[in-house]
Order: sequence, then structure tokens, then C-alpha cells
Amino acid sequence: MKAKPAPKKKSAPAIESKTRRADDLVEKPATLLKIPEGELLGAHTSTSGGVAQAVTRALGCGFTAAQIFVKNNKQWFAPVLREEEAAQFRKARKVSGIYFFAHNSYLVNLGSQDAEMFSMSVRAMIAELERAEALDLPFIVMHPGSHGGAGEEAGLKRIAQGLDEIVRGTAGFHCRMALEITAGQGKSLGYRLEHLQWIIENISEEKRFGACLDTAHLYAAGYNVKNREGYEETMNQVDKLLGMKSVLGLHLNDSKVPLGKRVDRHAHLGEGEIGIDCFRWIVQDLRWKSTPKVLETPKSEDMHEDVENLQKLAPYLR
Ligand SMILES: [Zn+2]
Ligand SMILES: [Zn+2]
Repeated sequence: MKAKPAPKKKSAPAIESKTRRADDLVEKPATLLKIPEGELLGAHTSTSGGVAQAVTRALGCGFTAAQIFVKNNKQWFAPVLREEEAAQFRKARKVSGIYFFAHNSYLVNLGSQDAEMFSMSVRAMIAELERAEALDLPFIVMHPGSHGGAGEEAGLKRIAQGLDEIVRGTAGFHCRMALEITAGQGKSLGYRLEHLQWIIENISEEKRFGACLDTAHLYAAGYNVKNREGYEETMNQVDKLLGMKSVLGLHLNDSKVPLGKRVDRHAHLGEGEIGIDCFRWIVQDLRWKSTPKVLETPKSEDMHEDVENLQKLAPYLR
């Protein structure tokens, strides 16, 4: 007797229409991404329509981690965050189980020698921390700043001075600041791990700080994470100069520019100069197991590119 044919297996859902919106994604929580438990993976997510909307979007994509701006990142200041809005976010975030953290505004420049620019940067950063604290976010990623021609030493000292003022203005806050490695474009500081180390060692309250590694920035700054030897060497440097534990978050971005070009341009994973191997090593590196990892790659409103990028990593997750 012939055995009954096995029931046809449902094929995995393919990435659907490119015009799909985040709202549609939410209606299909049978998410496209299968991220193993304990792995914190996702992307920078828009808060358009209210900060709680970021939770809806991240859930719709199946993220387990997400980065947000706590206000419009191209404006210095924002209207006060209403407690109802903050509470709505905190509740939605708790239910979702997604790990959220923040990135600061691009306008802030603590390296500025201009008194007005410097003081505005300090005040804006304090305001962002107040919002991040109200949202109960563990840390906010920030670029150290640009020296604007005054020289690296003067710039680094100014940044440390600014961070000290910010710490004084946010005494008792839980939210930490994660200094991000930069591509070193123009007069930006923070493109050497030694810059981050120097800043952290020269501020009064070290425990309020950490670091954030961005693969595109590392590569553009000259850290060759494209090959295995370069990856290991870079991570050893991170451990030696900062300590793995001080790295609070990772930005997974491929780079549109070659090694050491000092220009900040992000590409989809495996489609830039770095290639997919680096991202495979990161997600398989046990040292980064519990570190949140997010994409900051180009995307449309429906975020299908984020899902596609993370799906490239799916075979390597365990
Ligand atoms: Zn950044
Ligand atoms: Zn980044």
C-alpha cells in the first residue's frame, strides 16, 4: 500500500510587495523575521506619529532591538514630551519585549570652540537625556563632536568639558551616553578608539558613559573589519582600550566607501565595501551575544529593506 503523501509544507513567506506600509505589517504579526531568543537585533526605527509608533513598527518587522531619535534629529529643541506619551511608549515597549535605545541629534557638537554653539549643544543634549530618561531608555548614542579646526587635542578637551556639564545637568539619571566611533569625516573626532578612551578617562563620572561601534564608521576610519585578521585585531583593540563591556550597542552597516576613506556612507549588508562576512562574525561572536545590534541602512517607509538585511543574517543566528 502506498503511503499517504505528506501534507504539503507551507513555504516560508517571501518578502512581499515593496509598497507595503508599516501598518500593514502590524496586521500580520506572523513576522517575517525569526530572531532566536536572547538575540537583540533590529534597526533604527521612526517615531513618526508618536514615540509609541516605533514599538508598533519594530514589532511589525519582528525586531528584538531598535534605535530611535527621542525628538526630531534636525532640530535643536522639541516641545516637552507629555507624560501620557512617554507612558504609552513604556507600556508598549514592555509588552513587546523589544530592547530600545536612542541616538542623539546630529546638530549637537560638544567639540565646538564657539561659546554659543557649545552651550546650545550642552543644553540640547541635556534635553535629549531628559526625554530618554522619561522613556526609560538605557542609553543614548552620540557622536563625540568636531573640533572645527581648533585641533584634535583642543576638541577632545572641549568634549570632555561638555560631557561633564551634561552629567552635572542630569545628576541621578540612569540613561547613559554611548560615544560612537565615527568615520572621521571633516574635522570630526571619535574616529580612533583612542579618542573614545581618552574622553571616557577624562570625565568625572565614567559610569555614565559607554561606547557604540558602527561597522561602516570603523571601516571608513581605517579599521579593516572586512577580513578575519582585521576583525580580530579591531576587537582586541576595543577590548584593550575600552573593554568589551563598555560597548553598549553595535551599528551594523556596510560601507559605501573604501577602507580609510574617512567618509560616512552606509550601504546594505553585503552590498558595500565590507561584505557580509563581518556581519556574520559579529552575530556569531559570543562576546557580542547580549549586545543590541541595529541597522542604520537606507530604507523606505515600510522598512522592507531592514527585514531583507536582517534576513541575510538569519542563517548565522543560533
Ligand atoms: Zn551615529
Ligand atoms: Zn552609527
